Amino acid sequence: MAKMRVVQVAKAGGELELVEREIPEPGPGKVRVKVQACGICHSDSVTKEGLFPGIQYPRVPGHEIVGIVDKLGDGAKGWKVGQRVGIGWHGGNCGYCKNCRRGNFFACTNDLQTTGVSFDGGYAEYIVAPAIGLAEMPEGLSAVEAAPLMCAGLTTFNCLRNAGAHPGDVVAVLGLGGLGHLGVQFAAKMGFRTVAIGRGADKEELAKKLGAEVYIDNQAQDPVAELQKLGGAKVVLSTATSADAMAAVMGGLAPKGTFMIVGAVPKIEVPALQMILQSQSAQGWYSGTSIDSEDTLNFSLLEGVRSMNEIYKFEQYKEAYERMINGKARFRVVMTME
Ligand SMILES: [Zn+2]
Ligand SMILES: [Zn+2]
Repeated sequence: MAKMRVVQVAKAGGELELVEREIPEPGPGKVRVKVQACGICHSDSVTKEGLFPGIQYPRVPGHEIVGIVDKLGDGAKGWKVGQRVGIGWHGGNCGYCKNCRRGNFFACTNDLQTTGVSFDGGYAEYIVAPAIGLAEMPEGLSAVEAAPLMCAGLTTFNCLRNAGAHPGDVVAVLGLGGLGHLGVQFAAKMGFRTVAIGRGADKEELAKKLGAEVYIDNQAQDPVAELQKLGGAKVVLSTATSADAMAAVMGGLAPKGTFMIVGAVPKIEVPALQMILQSQSAQGWYSGTSIDSEDTLNFSLLEGVRSMNEIYKFEQYKEAYERMINGKARFRVVMTME
């Protein structure tokens, strides 16, 4: 049997380890993909640290995957060997539970397939994934360019296009890291009056380069006052991981504005009276399904949205993961398998 290399975690809280395995065969409805690149996302810590119940180990993390279809399992329809594809967090769903039948595939109660969590992910030379979890990759995006779009890009793009803002509306992006630097680009390219909120005057140049019309330094300025000068934000896309930073911006919402949360914190406080009087809301947003990924990839290619990446060879997986988990990497981290 031919062998491949994977980086796996042997148990919850265990170390990442490079091991050899047999190249797996794709079962019914599954597709085998030869991985070209895989992004390293903070959510990979779910697998490494065992943060979700029921993860079976050893497990290979990774859900920002770009590769080439290598072999089709029985009944795996819609794909051809040799086709370029991406695979993100949402790997698949049953299609027949009540939530799936309402189109809420992310909330599948029966067979929710999460890449790198419920099946082996992209820290590998090959991956076997449900056919329904594959996204078609446009020519014109390299594997390294596309990998972070499969999670960080998808999440911010899909959140912004579903948040209720229209072209010309004020949309603020809180945070200018891995998610935020993509969120600013998407917001600007979607035609929103884009406001970037970050820490420190030194981020202004970057924010403007990414397409922000206005930059608010939340260390030197009051983001609420600055947003209200613009009439308030119809949407705040919050990529921050600080509950205090989030709370400090909520007063900047416009009437009927929405505070969209994609950066995880244990808990936030909301200004209930203001939200009642101004008919505002706070909402969480999951990432998206494979067709949302395709939309993200095509929009990014069309509009020139690109992730800023630190790139590592597969063998440098330890260093690459540490750069991400310790917050040393300013934007996104990608491993290349070839
Ligand atoms: Zn992710
Ligand atoms: Zn379902």
